[in-house]
Formats: sequence, C-alpha cells, structure tokens
Amino acid sequence: MITTRLRTLLVFPLAAALVAAAVGLPAAQTFDGEPDPQPASADLAIVGGLLIDGHEGPPLPGAVVLVEGDRIVAVGSRDELTVPDGAEVVDARGMTILPGLIDAHVHLDILGHSDYQHWHGRYRDGRYAEIMAVSTRQLLMSGVTTVVDLAGQPDALGEIKARIESGELAGPRIVASMGWITNWSDGQVARHHRRSHTVNVRTVDEARAAARTAIAQGAGIVKVHTGLTEAQLGAIREEADAAGIRITGHVGNRDDLLMRIRAGQDGIEHLGLGAGRGPAIAPDVLQGLVDEGTYVIPTLIQTAIQGRAVEWPDWRDNPRARALTPPDIWADIRRSIENPRRFGYFGGALRVRRIDEMGAKLRQLHDAGVRLLVGTDSGTPLNFHTDATWQEMDLMVSYGLSPMEVLAMATRRNAEYLGRGGELGTVTRGKLADLIVVDGNPLLSMRDLRHVVTVVKDGRVYTP
Ligand SMILES: [Zn+2]
Repeated sequence: MITTRLRTLLVFPLAAALVAAAVGLPAAQTFDGEPDPQPASADLAIVGGLLIDGHEGPPLPGAVVLVEGDRIVAVGSRDELTVPDGAEVVDARGMTILPGLIDAHVHLDILGHSDYQHWHGRYRDGRYAEIMAVSTRQLLMSGVTTVVDLAGQPDALGEIKARIESGELAGPRIVASMGWITNWSDGQVARHHRRSHTVNVRTVDEARAAARTAIAQGAGIVKVHTGLTEAQLGAIREEADAAGIRITGHVGNRDDLLMRIRAGQDGIEHLGLGAGRGPAIAPDVLQGLVDEGTYVIPTLIQTAIQGRAVEWPDWRDNPRARALTPPDIWADIRRSIENPRRFGYFGGALRVRRIDEMGAKLRQLHDAGVRLLVGTDSGTPLNFHTDATWQEMDLMVSYGLSPMEVLAMATRRNAEYLGRGGELGTVTRGKLADLIVVDGNPLLSMRDLRHVVTVVKDGRVYTP
C-alpha cells in the first residue's frame, strides 16, 4: 500500500513531499493516517522482515511489528520505531512477515485417512478430541492461526477449543459449525460416516431448532448440506442473523444453487456450483453470485490431491504430516492409502483432468467479480493439514490469480467473511497479534509458505 510505504518517509518530510509530487498527488492526500506512535513498552518485536500486511498494497521493507500482550501495538519501519527494552526479539531479516493464515474450511476430526467409514468407526466414540489435538497442532505449526471447522462433533470441538484457549494446547483459533444440518432420507443419514453429528431435519421448525442448537453449542458459523428447502433455509437464515454469523455449505444441482443464493446462504463450498462437470459456470449462476455477494470457497487442493496421489504415490508419505502424527495413527493412515484406486473419488479424479476444469472455473468466477476465499477441506483423504493451505494458495496462483490477492483471501478477506475483520486478518495496530514469519517471499513463490519459521498467535510465539 502506498500509504505504508510513504509512512516510512514521514521522518523525512522533504522526501515525502517529493514522492507525493512524483505520484502526482498533493502531499496532504497521500496519507490516510499518522504513523503509529512509538510505544513505551512491548513484550515482543518482530524486526527487519518484508511486511505484507494483508491490505494488498506494496509491502514494507525493514518492518518492525511491536506486540504487547495479545495485541499489535505498533507497525512501522526501523526508521520510525525502536524496540523497547525488555522485548523479546524475533529477527525476521531476509524473511517475510504476514498476518496469520486463516483457512475457511477444515475438518479437525480427520487427518488425511482415505476411508471415512473406517476412520469414523474407530474414532466416533470418544476419540475425536484426541485427533483434534493432532490436527490443531499441525495447522498452527503450518502458519494457520484461525480455522473454520465445518461439521465436527460438538462435544469434542468444545473441549479442544477450551484447551487451546486456556493455553494447554497449541492450536489455531477455531470457528466451528458444530455438526451440519441436512434434509436427507433415513437411509442416507444411517449410512453417512458423520451420522453421529448430522442434524437431519424435515420441517421448517426442525431446521430452526437445529440452527438454535448449534448456536447454543458455540457455533460461529452454520453449515448446511443438501436437501434443505427454501423455507428451511429461511428459518436457518433468521437464526444465523440473530447470532450475527454466516451460513455456508454444499449445494446440489443448479436449481438448488440458485435457490440458496436467493435464500441468502453466504458461502458455497467447493466448485461444483450446480453446473456438473465441465469448465464453464452458467451466466445466471455467475450473475446471482455477484448480485448477492455470495462467497465461494473453491477447495481446489482436495481435487488436485486425488489425482496426484494416484499418479505419484510418494505424496502419500508426507513427511511433515508424518512428523506431527502419533505413529500408530500414521500407520493407520498409510494403510488406508496403499491402494487409493479402490475409493471412487480417487479414480474419478484420474479419469479427467478435473483440476484444470476447476482452474478454469476459478478464473471465470474471479473475472466476473465473485468473492473468493481460501479454504482447503484439509483432513480429507491425503489432504494433510500441514500442507493444504499453501497448496490451495499455490494452485490459485497457478490458475492466474495474483499472489497478493490470494494472500489477502487467506487473511483479510477470510477475516471479514467471518465478521472478525476488526481484530484479525491484517498486521495493524490494535488487532490481535496473529503473525507468521516465512523464510522466503510468497509474492515470488507461494510455495515459500511451506517455510514458516515463527508463528505468533494471540501474542504468543511458537517455533514450528
Ligand atoms: Zn469439507
């Protein structure tokens, strides 16, 4: 952002005036605020990195970020800010400082195992919290400081949230849907691996009650699945509005999608978009998404993984996920993926280059002005929490989106979607101190996000 870069020149008023003249603006209009004042004290200082602050302006070289308690108290350059005595210093020279990443679609109760029925059969009874302690650690150590869990078991989520918030466990901030709401046949519910936390409804009153229950359990978002009627969605919408939270979820066919856009479903998960397979999204769908400001969470990586895992089996022994998974659970995951072709979703991914079709849809949505976010479906088969987020972002760039915009989707725009833009998503004075330091520069290569060397969440420092 021009304003941040110019701020560094504030200590040299003449230089600032010259820069303002060079960009053709009166000096007084080139600044949208005063530089952050020097605080007398700070607990933590991140010093010397290139700052990409989430606002999508030019990055700030030689940045200093000062943190006190759980808050950012000053952001500026080394010319403007000094490190108060007693502050812990994180040396970020040669590296990049970013807001903590936000993943808008994860599953904390799964770790990449490829047989859902086996996995949930093994862990459904009282063991989900054990799994979530692993997935949350994997995510935080990968630079993800806030996650949206869509369809986890409420008791386990409540327990893990409390343990993270108390500082007992290292993990991201969790916004959870607390199960999901469906309108399925009895047989469909009985067969589904998430049947223990599927709330199936048949009437408008039941839909309203299901939303109220999830919210009472602490839901920060409502997840809906297929089969719901417009009236049922309307009741859920009213409850979500009363709680000030979003509704997101899957959609069925094109008519269902158009109905959900009309009914005010905020987020559409995955890129099916009611269009079936094929590279193009119908014009009425695009127009509806734009007119209603509906968000789309493409989850490209989930599809990309399915094809790659079959073609290149080494992918299955991801060393980063292995290192952060208890050995017995990792052995179970490895066994499940020895023969991925036995699972329909892997075979289907190979038959056509579905990922390229999705890339084309991504560009179509982007160019039409649809609001896109970064979410990964991490935890699904071979889609490991340790790598899903940077891989999704890398795919978005490979299909033509700019790195700066994709970084904003994974930070500021996700925070705004969650109604948390006032305290998360950018490196700004007064916001919660969620930051990462990356060895490299994701504007040059999104893959550098693999090399997270420091994670700060709520002002607390973690070294992956
Ligand atoms: Zn999902």
